[in-house]
Amino acid sequence: ALERRQPRAKGPGRTADQHAVTLSANVGTLADVARAAQSDNEGVGLFRTEFLFLDRREPPTLEEQIQAYSQVFAAFDGRPVTVRTLDAGSDKPLPFLSLPSEDNPALGIRGLRTAAHCPDILVTQLQALVTAQRRTGAQMRVMAPMVSTAEEAAQFADLARGFGVQSVGIMIEVPSAALDADRLLQHVDFASIGTNDLSQYTLAADRTSRTLGRFLDPWQHALLTLVAGVCRAGAALERPVGVCGEAAADPLLAPVLVGLGVSSLSMAAPAVAAVRDALAQLTLQHCRSLADAALDAPTPAIARATAREMSDAFH
Ligand code: PEP
Ligand code: MG
Repeated sequence: ALERRQPRAKGPGRTADQHAVTLSANVGTLADVARAAQSDNEGVGLFRTEFLFLDRREPPTLEEQIQAYSQVFAAFDGRPVTVRTLDAGSDKPLPFLSLPSEDNPALGIRGLRTAAHCPDILVTQLQALVTAQRRTGAQMRVMAPMVSTAEEAAQFADLARGFGVQSVGIMIEVPSAALDADRLLQHVDFASIGTNDLSQYTLAADRTSRTLGRFLDPWQHALLTLVAGVCRAGAALERPVGVCGEAAADPLLAPVLVGLGVSSLSMAAPAVAAVRDALAQLTLQHCRSLADAALDAPTPAIARATAREMSDAFH
C-alpha cells in the first residue's frame, strides 16, 4: 500500500525530515555479494565470513583469505564493508577448531570465545583483512560476534587495532553485553545489535525452534528495552549503534528501531527498498512516537498492531 501512494525513494536512507539512517546489506556468500553489490544500498553492514571456513579440513590460508576479502571489497568499490570475524563454535563445528564437545553448544565456545582456544585463526583473519583493505583501499570496519564482557571487547579492540584495523566494533547479541553496553562501548568505535541471537539469549528460546516463535518475536518488550538501552549508551559515548539481525528487514519495525536511536540497519539486500520507503514517509519524531508506543504495548501483537495504525495515520 505504501508503494502505491508515493514513488519509491532511492539512495541513502533518510526519514521524511532528512535524518540519515544508513541502509546496508547482509552478505554471507559470494552470490549475496554479487547481488548486493549491484543493488541500491550503502555497502555491507554484516559480512558473515563463515562460508570461507565451512566444509574444509584446514582453515583457509592467509593468501586465500586476502584474495576472498579483496574480491568482496572490490565489488563494493568504495562503499563501506563491515566484516564480522569468524562466528563458529560447537554448533557449527569446524574440524580444525579443536574445541571440547559441549552439552549446550549455544551457551558454549562460539564466536569470539573460540579465539581463546585457537587464537591463530583470528590472528590470520585480521592480517588477511588488513592486507585486503590496504590493497583495495576499502572502507573496512571489523566487528566481533558473541562478545559478552567489557574485558572481551577491550581485548578484541587491542588485537584488531594492533594489526591496523581503523574501525573496530562489537556485535551486541548477548544480554550481558546489552546491559553493560556503556562499558563495552568505551573500548570500540561502534556496535551492531544482532537481534537473532539477542532474542534467543534474552528470552531463553532456541532461535532454531519451530515452537518458540512467540518468544523470538522481535517486538518482545524485553528485546526492545535492551535495544533502547544500547542506543542510550551509544548516544552518551557518541558511538553509532546499528541493527543487523532479521528485525532490521521489517518495514514496520525499522522505524521503531530508528525511534529507539539506531542509526544504521543492515538486512538482506532485497529488503532494503521497502525499509527505505517506510522511513522516507516518517519523520524522526514519528519514529520516536512509534518507539514509545511499542515500548508501552502490553504484548508484541499489540505493539505491532499499534505501530501499524500509527504509521498509517502518519503517512
Ligand atoms: C544475529 O544474531 O542477529 C546476527 C545478525 O548474526 P547471525 O544471525 O549470523 O548469528
Ligand atoms: Mg548472531
